[in-house]
Amino acid sequence: MGKMVWVNLSTRNIAIMRSSIYNKRFIGGRGVGDWILFNEVKPDTLPLDPGNLMIFGTGPLTGTAAPSSGRLSLVTKNVLSGGIVFSNAGGHFAPELKYAGFDHIIISGRASSPVYLFIDYGKVEIKDASFIWGKDVWDSEDAIKRELEDNRVQVLSIGPAGENLVKSACIIVNKGRALGFGGCGAVMGSKNLKALVVRGNRSVKVADPSGFIEECQKNLRKINRSIGTKFLRKGGTINKIGPLFPLPVRNYQDGNWGKRSSKVTEIGFKKLGEKRRLACFNCPINCSHYYSIEKGPYAGLNCEGLQINAVRGFGSNLDIPDPGFILECNALCNKMGLHVDEVSASLGWAFECFEKKILTKKDTDGLELEWGRKEVVIELIKKIAYRDGFGNILAEGVQRAAQIVGEDSKKYAMYIKGTGVNEGNMRAKKAWALGIVTSTRGGGHLCGSPNSEGVKNVTPEIGQKRYGVPTAGDSVTYRGKAKLVVWFEKYKALVDSLGICYFTSYWQNNLLGPEEYARFFSKATGKSFNADDLFKIGQQILNIEKAFNTLHTGYSRKDDFPPDRLMNEPVKSGPFKGERLEKSCWNDLLDKYYTLQSWDMKTGWQTDKCLSDLSLNEVRVKLEKAGRLIIND
Ligand code: SF4
Repeated sequence: MGKMVWVNLSTRNIAIMRSSIYNKRFIGGRGVGDWILFNEVKPDTLPLDPGNLMIFGTGPLTGTAAPSSGRLSLVTKNVLSGGIVFSNAGGHFAPELKYAGFDHIIISGRASSPVYLFIDYGKVEIKDASFIWGKDVWDSEDAIKRELEDNRVQVLSIGPAGENLVKSACIIVNKGRALGFGGCGAVMGSKNLKALVVRGNRSVKVADPSGFIEECQKNLRKINRSIGTKFLRKGGTINKIGPLFPLPVRNYQDGNWGKRSSKVTEIGFKKLGEKRRLACFNCPINCSHYYSIEKGPYAGLNCEGLQINAVRGFGSNLDIPDPGFILECNALCNKMGLHVDEVSASLGWAFECFEKKILTKKDTDGLELEWGRKEVVIELIKKIAYRDGFGNILAEGVQRAAQIVGEDSKKYAMYIKGTGVNEGNMRAKKAWALGIVTSTRGGGHLCGSPNSEGVKNVTPEIGQKRYGVPTAGDSVTYRGKAKLVVWFEKYKALVDSLGICYFTSYWQNNLLGPEEYARFFSKATGKSFNADDLFKIGQQILNIEKAFNTLHTGYSRKDDFPPDRLMNEPVKSGPFKGERLEKSCWNDLLDKYYTLQSWDMKTGWQTDKCLSDLSLNEVRVKLEKAGRLIIND
């Protein structure tokens, strides 16, 4: 759309600027957000300071006819790590933002009282939000729509968790889609900003309309024909779960849930009362579900469904094989504005500490944290959102909670770079684990983890052709996995910057690869790009994030290790029995990974050669000034 809006909530100044200077260099979305944050937020600015920025962004393909082009990106300073965090959500907000006239919204400062921002056909207004402050996400969205007398405005908002500066607070888009990581809901709460609302009617223009439409049709056919699409369309990400599917059990004490997994399959959820399939903007996949439960303990629950991480986090992690309960927890997190992964990591740690008698009823407001106690989990989620009693400790996130409780509890805290871990088969899938651990936002598989390990049709030939890694489909080997992760880190950075859903990419369904994206991008912008050009931008984006972390947190090689439990305690049962991440193999994997990134093997920091080759001289200068650049011999 060529424009971005900067809003300072302290001064109420609103400035509209051209966005092309940023978009030309870093595509859009995550890339542009990273660059602005890197340049504008200083290392001594704390995440909840008014000086922290929130950069909401769309990509050049967002809101176009390109399939699944409804993604919204957010970049800000991470409350849990002090480094960078980027998040990406679907729904319908991002296209509407473009139809309202903007590519990006950049928010700084702190309002003197609760406000929401309304972007209405190009006009930007800061409005009073006192009537919704204190309300949950679902009620807030309904109240805003009533106030504006328009049911079709697109809304993202925080709940009580964000208002109470809970470190696992997130931002919810369209009542059920999360900008999840890094406590970004608390950043929004610290700015007294309850919601963003957009409405527009403009169209997104592309440089070569007929070529672009041809590309859309060709790729739509490919998406619709794919087995992967049919799989996701049928059951979403929870369709993967079956009796042999590896899941973390009781805070990673095991990695196999055995027969209990059979109770939380897609069929189990469907029986609850699935009413229809749902899709984000212009998505042919429809991977989401809408449930209306009419009978049983959760009768009356009407909500959008969940991803597999909710089944891990509230199901196997807490040893509760009950679809209704898992859906209830997921819905409660959406209402409170809480990030499922961080909350479930904190709860897993707390339940295990109770089991090991490190915590007792005296510490937990009289609650008995025994595995399987559903009502205790629900109570604790509410307590976290309101920072009530023991919930106030859990609201700090799992790393900090363990520091508060003390030494004995620390070995049960599962986190990476300050961020709680709620992940799948990390002990067996070596590249999956490496991608999570080296993630610049601090954990999460949607950074550099490939989805190819253990997938039968990723044969050595296909692995070689796609990624240059013949072992891409092999779970347990370490061979080739550093190269695979480097490939996916760059690839994900460019997908997030284009504004397309990752589920239509090579990652989930082996669908659209870098060549397809290059053609889309070229036809949208009228400039010629090939896959290598895009990969170079992906690599630049990754290096900006890495440098931000080095400057703001000092993270180095020692922070690129998984939690000790995953290295020391093998999986106890199931198809991956005996698997763990051996320390010596991990060290070797890191050496290979740093070498491929042209980073220093000893410290894990960036080198002057790497940044010069990537034409990131501004980054190189800042790191050198801070004494955190490795100068090549
Ligand atoms: S695949 Fe699922 S998450 Fe992705 S855009 Fe489509 S409906 Fe949304």
